[in-house]
Amino acid sequence: MSKNKSNEAKLRIIPLGGLGEVGKNMMAYQYENNILVVDTGLMFPENDMLGIDYIIPDFQYLLDNRDKVRGIVITHGHEDHTGAINHVLEQINAPIYATPLTRGLLEVKIARNGSGERARLNTVNAGETVQIGPFTVEFFHVCHSIPDGVGLGITTPAGLVVHTGDYKFDHTPVDNWPTDYAKLAEFSDRGVLALLADSTNADKPGWTPSERVIDPAFDEVFRTAQGRIIFASFASLISRMQQVANAAVRHGRKMAFAGTSMVENAKIARKLGYLDIPDDVLVSIDQALKMSPKQVALMTTGTQGEPSSIMGRLSTGTNRQFDIIPGDTVVLSSHPIPGNEENVSRTINRLFRRGANVIYESIAPVHVSGHASQEEMKLMLHLVKPRYFMPIHGELRHLKQHASLAKQVGIPEERIAIVENGQVVEFKNGEMRLGERIPGGYVFVDGSGVGEVGPSVVREREVLARDGFVLVNLMLERNTCRLIDEPEIITRGFVHTPEADDLLEATRKLVVQTVNCASNGRMQNDLEQTLKSFLYSKTKRRPMVFVTLSQA
Ligand SMILES: [Zn+2]
Ligand SMILES: [Zn+2]
Repeated sequence: MSKNKSNEAKLRIIPLGGLGEVGKNMMAYQYENNILVVDTGLMFPENDMLGIDYIIPDFQYLLDNRDKVRGIVITHGHEDHTGAINHVLEQINAPIYATPLTRGLLEVKIARNGSGERARLNTVNAGETVQIGPFTVEFFHVCHSIPDGVGLGITTPAGLVVHTGDYKFDHTPVDNWPTDYAKLAEFSDRGVLALLADSTNADKPGWTPSERVIDPAFDEVFRTAQGRIIFASFASLISRMQQVANAAVRHGRKMAFAGTSMVENAKIARKLGYLDIPDDVLVSIDQALKMSPKQVALMTTGTQGEPSSIMGRLSTGTNRQFDIIPGDTVVLSSHPIPGNEENVSRTINRLFRRGANVIYESIAPVHVSGHASQEEMKLMLHLVKPRYFMPIHGELRHLKQHASLAKQVGIPEERIAIVENGQVVEFKNGEMRLGERIPGGYVFVDGSGVGEVGPSVVREREVLARDGFVLVNLMLERNTCRLIDEPEIITRGFVHTPEADDLLEATRKLVVQTVNCASNGRMQNDLEQTLKSFLYSKTKRRPMVFVTLSQA
C-alpha cells in the first residue's frame, strides 16, 4: 500500500467493482486517511458459474482500511448498487447515506439480515449536501428506471468530482422528475476535476427512448390478452411497477405482486409515496388467483431466466403457488444482462410450451433501458466539462466506447482513464496518474457462505457438470504396493453409451498395467494424468479423475 505524505495529499479513486463488468458497482474515494464508499452492489452469476447465488466485490482494501471509512453513499435502489450492503455492514461500521426510497429499500434488505439496529442510515434528499469527512457530497437527481436516483458532486480538497451513478436524460419520466440539468451546468461553472459516468449503453447510438414509450405497448397487451397477464421484471424496477399499475387502472384489471422481494419493495415504495396504486386495484396474490383470469394482472421476478425465480419455476412447472395456464400472456419487461441471453431464450421457449403467449423486448417495446445512450453521454460530457474523464459501469468494451465518445467531444486521450476493477487512479496538483493495483476480483456467495467458494471451485463444478467424473479405487498390498483386487471404477455423468462397457474394460486394463509398473510414491498422481489423457483420446471429453488407494 502506498504511504500517505500529508504535505502532498492526493485524491485516490479506487474502483472495487463495476469497471470491466456489468454489475456489482462499488467505488471508493480516498483523501488522506478518509474513505468515502459509493454503492455496494452485487452481480448475478453467468450460466457457467454453477451453484453460485451471486457475486459481490472483493472489498479487502476497505477491510484493511476499515477505520478510515467515513461513510457509504448509495446512489439508487437497484441490486447492482445495493446488493452487497449486508456483507459490507457485517465488517465495516460506517454511516449510510441515501435518498428516501433508496433508504427504504435498503432497510428492507438490512432487516432481512437481522442487522437493522446496528445500521446507521441517514436520509438525504436530492438537492441536499452532506459533509462526510473531507468530502462535501451534493446529491443531484437523475432519471433512471427506479425513482429517487441520484448522482453525486463530490467536492474534495483535490477538486470537484462528478459521479453520475446510473442515469438517462428522459424528458418525460414516469415520475415526471427529469435529471437535474441545472446542477450539472453549475458544477461545470465551478470547474470539474473529473467526471465518472455510467457506460452501460456506450455502444447504443442515439438517445434512449423515454420510459413512456412502454405505455402504448402495455395498453396493447391489456387490450388483446384473453386470460391472465403476468409481467416479469426486476424486484427493484419500481418505475415499471407503476406503469403496470397505471395500465391495470386504465383497463379495469386488479393487480397483484408475487414473490417476497417484489411484495416488500412495492410495499415500501407505496408507503413512501413513490408508487401510486389505488387500494381497490391492488389485491393479494391469493385473491388474484381466485379471480377470473381476465380480471387480473400479476407482476413477478425472474426476467433473467434464473431457475429459482418465480418465472423460472413457472417455465418448468415447479412453482408452488400457481402454474402457467394456457391463455396466459407473459410479458418479460427487461433486457437480458450480458451472459444471460441463453437462459432467457430457454425460459421463453418453455413458457410457450406451457401454453403461454410470451411478449418480450424484440417483439414489442415492453422494455426500455434506464441507461443513457451515446448522445446522452455526449450531452453529459458537454454539460459537466470535466478536465479528466473516467468511464465507469460496464465491460471493457463499454468503457472503451465511452472513452472514444469523450475523445469525440474534445477530451484529450491523456486525460481519459480507462481502468478496470482494482486499478487505483490518483489526482495530485490537478494531475492524474495511475496508482497501484489492489484486489478487484470476485467474491462468490452461495449456500455455504461468503468467499468460501473460489474461482477454482467454480471451474471444478463446470468440469463436473460438463464431463462428469471417474473414480478409481485401488486395493493394494501394504508392503509391495501390488494390486490385490480388480480396480473398482465408478463413473458419474461421463459415459452412457453402448461402448461404455468396452471403454471401462480398457480403462481397467490400463490401470492394472500402470499400477503394476509403478515403483514410486507418485503413482496416484501419475495414474490420474494417464487416465485423463486416455479418456480424452477415446471420448474427447475431460472428466475429473480421482484415484483413491486403500492398503491391506
Ligand atoms: Zn440502476
Ligand atoms: Zn446499475
